[in-house]
Order: sequence, then structure tokens, then C-alpha cells
Amino acid sequence: MRTEALLVAPLLVALSGCDRRPEPPRHLVLVTIDTLRADRLGCYGAKDVSTPNLDRIAGEGAIATRATAHVPLTRPSHTSLFTGLLPTRHGIRDNITPARVPEVPTLATVAKSAGFRTAAFVSSIVLASGGGLERGFDLYSDDLAKSAPAEDVPFMNELQRSGDETLAEAIGWLESNRDSRLFAWIHLYDPHEPYEPPEPYRTRYADRPYDGEVAWSDELVGRLDEALARLGLRENTLLVVTSDHGEGLGEHRETLHGFFIYETTLAVPLLMRGPGVVRGTRIESLVQSVDLFPTLVEMVGLEPPKNADLSGLSLAPALRGEPYRNEPVAYAESLVPLLHFGWSDLRSIRRGKWKYIQAPRPELYDLEADPMEIRNLADSQPELSKGMRGALGEELDRERAVGAAETSSLPQDLLDKLGALGYVGSGPPIESSSPGADPKDKIEEFRIANQLIREGVVLYHEHDYKGSVERYRKLLDLDIESFEIHLNLARGLLALERYGEAEPHFEEATRRLPSQREAWEGLSQSRSSRGDLVGALAALKEGQAKIPGDPGLHQREGSVLVRMGRSDEARKAYETAVALAPKDALLRARYGELLRDLGQVEEAIQRLREATEIDPEGAAYWNSLGMTLGGNARFPEAEVAFRKAVELESEDPRYAFNLGLILMRQNRPAEARPFFEKALEIEPGFEDARRHLAEIGQR
Ligand SMILES: [Zn+2]
Repeated sequence: MRTEALLVAPLLVALSGCDRRPEPPRHLVLVTIDTLRADRLGCYGAKDVSTPNLDRIAGEGAIATRATAHVPLTRPSHTSLFTGLLPTRHGIRDNITPARVPEVPTLATVAKSAGFRTAAFVSSIVLASGGGLERGFDLYSDDLAKSAPAEDVPFMNELQRSGDETLAEAIGWLESNRDSRLFAWIHLYDPHEPYEPPEPYRTRYADRPYDGEVAWSDELVGRLDEALARLGLRENTLLVVTSDHGEGLGEHRETLHGFFIYETTLAVPLLMRGPGVVRGTRIESLVQSVDLFPTLVEMVGLEPPKNADLSGLSLAPALRGEPYRNEPVAYAESLVPLLHFGWSDLRSIRRGKWKYIQAPRPELYDLEADPMEIRNLADSQPELSKGMRGALGEELDRERAVGAAETSSLPQDLLDKLGALGYVGSGPPIESSSPGADPKDKIEEFRIANQLIREGVVLYHEHDYKGSVERYRKLLDLDIESFEIHLNLARGLLALERYGEAEPHFEEATRRLPSQREAWEGLSQSRSSRGDLVGALAALKEGQAKIPGDPGLHQREGSVLVRMGRSDEARKAYETAVALAPKDALLRARYGELLRDLGQVEEAIQRLREATEIDPEGAAYWNSLGMTLGGNARFPEAEVAFRKAVELESEDPRYAFNLGLILMRQNRPAEARPFFEKALEIEPGFEDARRHLAEIGQR
């Protein structure tokens, strides 16, 4: 008889009765391969994708044959993995809302306080620092600009770096820190679209480039494993490989991920190898992303944080080969249809082989008989559906009990809809008075929306604002609305200087997702551009109330107040912004420039010096400092600053020119000459540089 809940680990029988546990692994290396469908790996049954390294690691350690994520989106899914909390508990429901992970213990904070050196190497802007996942990491490497400067990439989610770059940096860190106890998180983004694997995978998988990215990612894991061996770390490292979600690849008419919650995008691989993991372990009970946190904490010999109230369970007994019995009720959700389009949200519950999806037209699948989720049994199995709906209701009850704290960034009408649909407490379903449309009926509109939004973003990026605006107008004509559509349309109109038309769309965007700074900033900008400074200020104040602690809105408030001539208040706004973002060099520099313009020179110089201390590589900060010093006849100090700017960015004609100028002021024309020449060489039309050279020539 097959039992869902039983772990099969026959190898450990020999060790039973022996309670001597091996030393816990010294190091922990967690690899998350973004957008990796479990069924694309050989060890999960794939026949035509080459994944020898992952297959080998599975054989040397443990494989969880049925592992599931809770949200098919990068940021909320990684947050569950790092906090051990369901999205209903940690509150990160999509890639942009709300802004920060709450201050709960994470894998990194726990490892750090236990004395590990900790480092993260992420490959996508979606996980860039500032979102809260960086807490607990000594090093959080998210420098994506090396691969692709931000201004060259129209799509936020394409701001990424190639896995070999990320990996090379991670290996370098492992090498130089190997005397310490290490926790490294390596995030590889390659299987995420666009699918552009390097050779030989590009050719080998020419007709299915996603699989090519999977094979390429396998090679990267192989390189990591080799490096661990070469550095003498392999035997003492717990290596964990998993993913945040899968990819639709056209099944259920979903191309990518993040809309539906079918197994195509929820089933993820999970492999673990190292001390404490019995070779050849197969965990066949249902395993959830939230299990990782308690599992890894226990495996490396630490205590779980007190009062953490985690959503998952430790798999450590299973990995050690002890009897393991768990029958979790696995929860998953997609709030994108609701949050972004005003359609219905999707919630699912898995118990044993059954999966129930709550939607306006509910779905029930037998995953053993029907793994592709094609035959909806909701109508033919009403009793079972009802039971599953009750189990889901318990999770939704918990969500409500947690309160609105983490969802407070959502507008009230959306809050009311959250989980309201067919919601079951102890009584009968509560019918929502205006249930959003069933996402199943909206997938075509979603595809059209994605297509036109894509085109709109590209056109905007190419400065074809009219073309961009047309795309969004077309979507509104089709009755498709979303936060992004209104925001992007408003941005296009702003670029066309059609401020009056932009304003209502910025307003609509702030109404739809009040937690997004961009909409408030745009609203303020469109108002101030047509001279309504009072309205601009009001927008910023409202935004600050919705997003407390956002430095950008305070900074912008400062610049509006300057224009209103209210300089004392402007200073206060900047002070607030600086206090909220003490490591923001650009903000510090802007504040310094404001003080300079207000005639408060000493303080201006102080703030600009701080900017150069925060980011000593920022040539623009040195230049700004030099200009302030030079403007106040402090020439030798200004010279030092300009020399620094030129040293950092020798190809900027302004810096060379400024250095030349400051040398002239100190009556050193011969030294100034090469810098004017340089400025002219870079920019032949630089008339001021030409004039100074001519002056020098006449002397
Ligand atoms: Zn992802």
C-alpha cells in the first residue's frame, strides 16, 4: 500500500538504534535556480534535458520528489523560503507589494547571529537589496549593472546578470573566506525569460531554449560543486538546490508564471547533500518551501528562533533517515489577477493527492491520476470539494487573524476582496457581492495586456512616447485596466508634457496600489509641472502617509518646498530623507547641493564630503564637492576633489574642464592646458575649453 505521508529511506535501517549523530555541516550553500520546473530535471523524470550534475547531487544526497512553492513569483516565494512563513503571514504577495519584508528572523539573520559569515549573490533586480531580504547578510551582492546598464534594459525583470558571473563572484568569496564558517546564497536567474542560453546549449536546444537554460544552469551547479571540492569545502558543506517557482510554457495557456497556480509553476525541485544527509534519501511526502527554514536551521545545529511560529516543519529527521511522517496541507496563492487587474485572486490547498483551487469556478484535481490538472472534478465530487474548501478556509481565517498589518498597503476595496470569494468560515460560503472575474476566463486578456504593456515599455524606452501611449489607450479601450497600465500611460503622457491628461491616470494608479512610490511621485510631478505646487505637495504628503519611511517621497517634498520658497521646511524634508536612507550617497549629494544653493556653504561641503565617503567611486559627487569648494575660493581643496573625479571618470569632459579651470584659478596654466585639451578631445564642440586654451596660448 502506498502511503502519502511515509518517507522511504531504506538505507538508514542499519543505523537505527544508534543515536550518535554526525557533526553538523560546517558550511551551508543554498542555490536557488529561478523559474526551474522540477519536471525538467533528469532526477525528476525528464528524458530529454541533460542535467548530470543535479542528478548526481540528488543521488549523493536527498531528493524531495514532491516539493511545492506557495506563490509562483520570485520575491514572495524567496521570502517564504527565507522566513519559513507563508505569504499570508509575511505579507509579500507579489514582486512589488509591499515594499519590505517584515522584521522577522530569516535564514541569514539566524546564521549570522550564530557566527556564520554570510553572503548573498543575486542575479535579478527583483531581489535587489532594499526589499528586506538583505538583512543578516555581511555581503549582499546585487550589482547587476556590470552585465547590463540599467538604461539599456527596458524591463525591470530583465535587469539581471548571467549565472556564470554571479557564480564566479560567489566562488571567489567562498575561497577568500573559507577559514570562517560560511553561509552563501547563490541565486541564478538564467531559466527566467528571456531564454538565451549560451553555446553549446543554444544550438543543442535550439527549438526549446528554456530547456537549454536548464541544462546551462546544471553546468553552473557542476562548476560550483567542483569549486567546493577544489577549496576543500565539499565534504563539510550542506549543499541545497531548489527553485522559487516553475514556468507555464504554454500549458493551461500560461506562457510564463505568476498568474495561475497549477503545478507547472508550483512544483519545484529540492535537492540536499552533505553531512547529516543519508545518501540516496527520497522524501516522498509533500514538502513545502516553508519547510526549508526550519530544516536548514536544524541541519546546521542551530536552534530555531523563539516564538517564530513557523509555517513549515523540519525535514531533518527524514534527511538523517529517521522515520518521518508528515501530511501537510499545502497552501498556494496568486494575487496578481486581483491586485493588478481587479479580477479574482486564486487560492489553493493540497492534501494528499487532492488539490483544490478556489476561484469563481472552483477546481478539484486528483494529482495522481491527472498530474496535468486537466479534469476538473469539483462538480462531480461536491463533498470532497467542500472539505477542501473548509481546509482552505482555515488558512484564510489565519490570514484574517494576522490582521491588516502586512496588507495595509492595499486599498480597502481590494482588502475586502482578499480571499472573500467563496470564503468559508464555519458557515456556508460568503458570496462576494461583486466577485472579480475568474482568471481562467481572463487568460487571453492577460496575454494581450502583457503583449501591449511590453510594446509600450519598449516604445517608451525608445522615446516613442506617442506610440507607447497608444498601446495603453488600446488596453483601456478593451476594458483591461491595471495599476501598470495607468502608471505607464501616465508616464508616457508626462513625457509628452500632457500633464493634465497624465494626472488622472497617476491618480488611478495611486488608488490601485497606494504602496507604490512611482505613482505618487508621478502625480506630484505632473501637478508641479503645470504650476500646481500646492497639489504636488499634497500628493507627496498623501503618499508618505501610505508608505511611511520612504525616503524618496521626502526628498521630492524637499525639492517642491524649495520651489515654493519654503527653505526651512525643505531642509527638514531632506533631513528626514537622509535619516531614512543614511547610506544613499546621491540623496546626500542632492541635500548638499540644496544647502549650497541656499548659501549654507559649510554645511553643504560637509554633506557633499559625506556623499564621497559613502560612495568614494562616485565621480559626480567629487565633482559636485569640487564645484562647491571652488565656488567659495577654496581652490587647493577643490583641486583635490576634481582630480579624484577625473581619476575615476577620465572620459567625462566636464570633470577635465573643471580641473583645468581650478588650475587656472591658481595661476598654473601649463598644468591646466592638458585638461582643456582633453576636454576638447572628448567633446570637440566644448567652446569654453577652446577659449581657455586660446587664452593660455596668448600668454
Ligand atoms: Zn522567480
